[in-house]
Amino acid sequence: MICRKVKPHLVNLLFEPELVPADVRDHLEDCATCSEELATLEATMNLMDEWKAPEPSPYFDSKLAVRLREEQRAEPAGLIERMRARVLFGNNMHLRPIAVGALALLIIIGGGTYAGLMSSHSASPVKASATVEDLKSLDDNAQVFQQLSSLDQNDQDDSGSSSNDL
Ligand SMILES: [Zn+2]
Repeated sequence: MICRKVKPHLVNLLFEPELVPADVRDHLEDCATCSEELATLEATMNLMDEWKAPEPSPYFDSKLAVRLREEQRAEPAGLIERMRARVLFGNNMHLRPIAVGALALLIIIGGGTYAGLMSSHSASPVKASATVEDLKSLDDNAQVFQQLSSLDQNDQDDSGSSSNDL
């Protein structure tokens, strides 16, 4: 009998000693390493038996329920906050992981749509000869840069105001 083959039986020795083959017991009597491992395992088991989850305070459940209701009643600010609240405090607790995934997906798709809108705006379609097209795109770029810098100016001018009327 070698140690490697004894190890799987160690747990059984603690729980169902009658199922453990005799040669395993013989090995444990001879082998210091394996018997030591069994002792460690047994000590761990005893520790787990002694360990008890701490008692929550008597009002824990009712306090938690009140807090949850407060969170549900509080009107969340934005759409994302609203959705997050729905995900966190909704009735479908078992659907939470799925809902969180869906929310993430929605944000990704939303972000992608937003980026697509932006690029389609700045790159206006130009149907002309290559030279004209190049000039036009240069002009467009110049306009874009102008717009960007004016946007920067605006941002610096009225920082704090939430106006976003382009
Ligand atoms: Zn051994």
